[in-house]
Amino acid sequence: MIDTHCHLEQRDYSSDRQEVIEKCKRELQAVVTCAPDPKDYALTFDLVQQHPNFIFATAGIHPQYAKRFTEEEIGQVMHTLKENKDKLVGIGETGLDYDFIQEKEWRSRQQEMFVRFIRFAKQLNLPVIAHIRNGSDKESENAFEHAIEILEQEAAQRVQLHMFGSRPLLKRALDNGWYISTNAIVLRSKNYKKIVRDTPIGQLMLETDSPWLHPTGAGKAGQRNDPTAVRAVAEKIAEIKKTSFEEIDAATTKNAIEFFGLKI
Ligand SMILES: [Zn+2]
Repeated sequence: MIDTHCHLEQRDYSSDRQEVIEKCKRELQAVVTCAPDPKDYALTFDLVQQHPNFIFATAGIHPQYAKRFTEEEIGQVMHTLKENKDKLVGIGETGLDYDFIQEKEWRSRQQEMFVRFIRFAKQLNLPVIAHIRNGSDKESENAFEHAIEILEQEAAQRVQLHMFGSRPLLKRALDNGWYISTNAIVLRSKNYKKIVRDTPIGQLMLETDSPWLHPTGAGKAGQRNDPTAVRAVAEKIAEIKKTSFEEIDAATTKNAIEFFGLKI
């Protein structure tokens, strides 16, 4: 099993990060950690160097931080990423988050930033990790549509739709050859179960988004999650797809290795 989306840089792991990684090494084939904030890049790159062929990294600017960076600063961030390309297997998470960003003008900034990162990923010959979330009001339910339009306009080919939650747009995403990764939300949400049901095994990957989304469903103040929870996700997928855990394990591992080009 491979966790293709987690956040090992988070403070939640600061007291026992090495122990968590050792536990992951006993149970998983690899971990892809995602640095969503430039302040976390250094720690993430260190982890990659300390655990070669096991910890892999993606990095970008999370769409929720769209207000924090000027055009010029984004350019500087990209420069840093380019210099550390040897420690990266993907660009992101990037995308659209209409829950965090409500103002129209800031949403268009978010869209511009998304376009820039998609182009940057192409330039570096790396896949894109897309985070897409709708806002809570009726008018903010088009983040998925906007994000898919942007990815199509940019002719993005290697795309991981992290925690993808839009059933109406699933077929379109799959027809584009993109990958869906799902986490423990699939243990509880009917919507996500149906997304897994309707996604071919060849386009599925496992993730946890840890330290968040513990399989028990405990909220923010609840239990800390870690990458080994992909087991619970794989077991649930096997149940939904009426197949064995072993088949899901083998297929999702193969998909992740190919998608990210992991050297394990
Ligand atoms: Zn994430």
